[in-house]
Amino acid sequence: MVWPCTLTVDVYVAAGREVEFPRPPCPACAGPLVFWSGYRRWLRAADRCWRIFVPRLRCGPCAVTHALLPAFVLAWRLDQVETIGSVIALVAGGRCGVRPAADRAGVPYTTARGWVRRFRGRALVLGTAFAALAAELGGEPMSPAADPGRFAVAAAGAAFAAASALPGWLAAGAWRFASAVSGGRLIAANMISPFLVVGRRRFMPPVPPLPA
Ligand SMILES: [Zn+2]
Repeated sequence: MVWPCTLTVDVYVAAGREVEFPRPPCPACAGPLVFWSGYRRWLRAADRCWRIFVPRLRCGPCAVTHALLPAFVLAWRLDQVETIGSVIALVAGGRCGVRPAADRAGVPYTTARGWVRRFRGRALVLGTAFAALAAELGGEPMSPAADPGRFAVAAAGAAFAAASALPGWLAAGAWRFASAVSGGRLIAANMISPFLVVGRRRFMPPVPPLPA
């Protein structure tokens, strides 16, 4: 699970376990979850690596635990989502090639190429899901463009624009929004296709909007 954290990475790291984590209901049974330890993982942001604390939540009836990732990360990716998103927006959005985008983001070429390949491979599904979410949030209807990558980038932007009218999302930014609504699986191998459309259940609003 991903929660719509609006904290900067350094503030999140400094707060450690004192971050005001939300406690969403169980994604499977909608019952209450309880905090159940957690773990630390690496995150690369602003040219350095951080060890961040990720709490786990446990559902008693389901007997499973769920990691509660902050929206600035994607599952199984080292780099923060804004870095990954900037490369995807430039390359899949058709504004430049992988190499200049990787240079600008300060990441290895092969890493950037991997992100873009994965995104493009899912672009039609992602674009359709983001377009549906945009419409659900009151945005303009969109139909697939000739280039699926551009369509997916545009649809993600439209969904975020529509979500920005709701409290809290503007501060999170477009790519944290994309991470939150995809459960951190924006470019994951095991992405579940209609994950955005089932939004009612998985779409966690940013409340409280800004933990001080
Ligand atoms: Zn449950």
